[in-house]
Amino acid sequence: MSNYERKYDVVVCGAGVAGIAAAVKCVRSGLETCLVEKTIIPGGLATAGLVNIFLPLCDGNGNQILHGLPEEFLKLSVKYGPESPPAGWGGTPGTKQGRYMTAFSPAAFILALDELLDESGVDVWYDTLLIDARLSGRRLEAVEVVNKSGRGLLTAKAFIDATGDADIAKLAGCELREGVNHMSIWAIQASMKKAAAAIEYEDPSLLLDVVRLGADDKGDGHPEGEKKFRGVNGRNVSEFVVASRRLLRERYANLAENALGRYCGVSEFPLTFPLMPQFRKTRMIVGEEDVVEVDYPAAYSGGDSIFPDWRSEGRLWTVPAGALRPRGVDALFAAGRILSAIDDDAWDAARVIPVAAFTGERAADLARSS
Ligand SMILES: Cc1cc2nc3c(=O)[nH]c(=O)nc-3n(C[C@H](O)[C@H](O)[C@H](O)COP(=O)(O)OP(=O)(O)OC[C@H]3O[C@@H](n4cnc5c(N)ncnc54)[C@H](O)[C@@H]3O)c2cc1C
Repeated sequence: MSNYERKYDVVVCGAGVAGIAAAVKCVRSGLETCLVEKTIIPGGLATAGLVNIFLPLCDGNGNQILHGLPEEFLKLSVKYGPESPPAGWGGTPGTKQGRYMTAFSPAAFILALDELLDESGVDVWYDTLLIDARLSGRRLEAVEVVNKSGRGLLTAKAFIDATGDADIAKLAGCELREGVNHMSIWAIQASMKKAAAAIEYEDPSLLLDVVRLGADDKGDGHPEGEKKFRGVNGRNVSEFVVASRRLLRERYANLAENALGRYCGVSEFPLTFPLMPQFRKTRMIVGEEDVVEVDYPAAYSGGDSIFPDWRSEGRLWTVPAGALRPRGVDALFAAGRILSAIDDDAWDAARVIPVAAFTGERAADLARSS
């Protein structure tokens, strides 16, 4: 039984980078749009998850591949400091140095995303959890949400699943694929050493002291004897969160032990933790098509579906429209890291911040023309 009902042109679920890009693009296209988010933070893994590197918009050979909202978001990520967009890219002075990417402060990005959403006209529903999907035949007609007002029904002409875990697609009964996650944790700490360096070099970005423990993105460094995680059931999510924070606790326990007896205590201490589980890949949709690699440089002029590989120079991928359309359900589109990818290599190339913004924008275009 629903306590309230609202009608929109488009309902976007998940205010990560993909969902915000999708919602902003929908509103800019004249569609009445709401954005449903279970936390109270915009940005998802990029902010609440403390990921702090905006991976490249360029191909590694000096060519900018992604423009539009991905570039707008990169600039927003550093709008409130401490970094600036890299020299030579995006209209900044100087000759190009390295790839068009940047580190950023998650908290600074949150403020800039708040500002974007404030100004955009997106109807944002924070602290609101998606709990069900209502279909008529194969058409998605409404999603059910819950918040302090109780249960509510949001109906729309089109829906965009940007939950990072394909939650709408799951509730709508779509076919899904699952990923595997190694044990790791990223957190932000304060340290005397970094503070001293920031002062010495007059570089405030050195104050952003990120601690990365456990496995890297390839799984190297996964603690011996630790299990791997899928992150698709409640128990598994809790186990991952507890075990990953234990990794961090052990680090500070060692530091505290070594500092015993010193007048100033530990010289490094934890400042902030991820507020959402740092799973890289949980579920993706099985789409009508897949993200696949395309020939380089032939694809370079290949239009608006191409994105670069953050791991290697000169590799390009394409997101066909069908990679954002789950099979079997109409009026539903996917955005962000849940897109349909041909294999793990493709999923790894696509599951990053610039591509999340890119696919959010593309999902909005699909929703508009549906
Ligand atoms: C450890 C780690 C390191 C990484 N490093 C990098 C890096 O250096 N650079 C980079 O570019 N990328 C990196 N990534 C990947 C990148 O951060 C994410 O893949 C990307 O930000 C995903 O964006 P998204 O919008 O698709 O999903 P998410 O960021 O997951 O956003 C989904 C949003 O949906 C909300 N949501 C979920 N379920 C519901 C529900 N049922 N109801 C309502 N709301 C819901 C969530 O709260 C969240 O806000 C890393 C990821 C991890 C885990």
